[in-house]
Amino acid sequence: MKESAPLRIPLIAGNWKMFKTAAEARETVGQLIQLTADIKNKNIDIMIAPPFTSLAAVAELIQDSGIDLGAQNLHWAKEGAFTGEISAAMLVDAGCKFVIVGHSERRQYFGETDDTVNRKLQAASLAGLIPVLCVGETETQRDEKKTFSVLDKQIENGLKELNFDAQHPLVVAYEPVWAIGTGKTATPDQVQEVHFYLRQRIEKIMGNVLAKATRILYGGSVKPDNVKELMVLPDVDGALVGGASLQAGSFSKIIHF
Ligand code: PEP
Repeated sequence: MKESAPLRIPLIAGNWKMFKTAAEARETVGQLIQLTADIKNKNIDIMIAPPFTSLAAVAELIQDSGIDLGAQNLHWAKEGAFTGEISAAMLVDAGCKFVIVGHSERRQYFGETDDTVNRKLQAASLAGLIPVLCVGETETQRDEKKTFSVLDKQIENGLKELNFDAQHPLVVAYEPVWAIGTGKTATPDQVQEVHFYLRQRIEKIMGNVLAKATRILYGGSVKPDNVKELMVLPDVDGALVGGASLQAGSFSKIIHF
């Protein structure tokens, strides 16, 4: 653990998106459990977020493995006539500890807004889930020097009127949209600059104790060969990994950064 981050255990999280049947998920998780057995109980958290249809299969396999379960989305209502949706309580019941909220693919393809993100964060934390709030700018926004104003809006509106305590903080993932699934990774300087900025914003909204306890992950083409240079940065507390989390071998290498 870094000296500058005494409260923050690194978190390496895998977002499987819409990949893998339950049988495929079982196979990958079985391999991952074997490959990460050496770091069980060490100071690192590992999370996998498979599709909803594989949550039960993965939950059964990861018991006592040191790997936690996450979901990729939730609905904010407790229950109701919302065809196709899944509530926070259902995720808890399925064994989830984490839930990803506001991933850029949901914002881009499914009309997720800062307002729905805010409601989902509220529902997740009320149910005892740890939300992973995703924020990040598009390539055009970065080129137009709007990165920080975009992040301000996402953070301020996303966290509006929410209370987290330092014992149960949220997780924030900085995922520049231009780096997701593209093979382009933000440079260490770009990543540290944004993470430092985000921590300051969180401090302004939620206070110093919470800002220090909040883990800020980097996401965007994290691979075994670039994870180390990112993880050494003082304000990087982990990684949200898409493509490279789908194979146990590459995800394990990232976990062993
Ligand atoms: C993601 O989907 O959150 C992600 C970071 O994907 P990738 O690692 O494939 O860029």
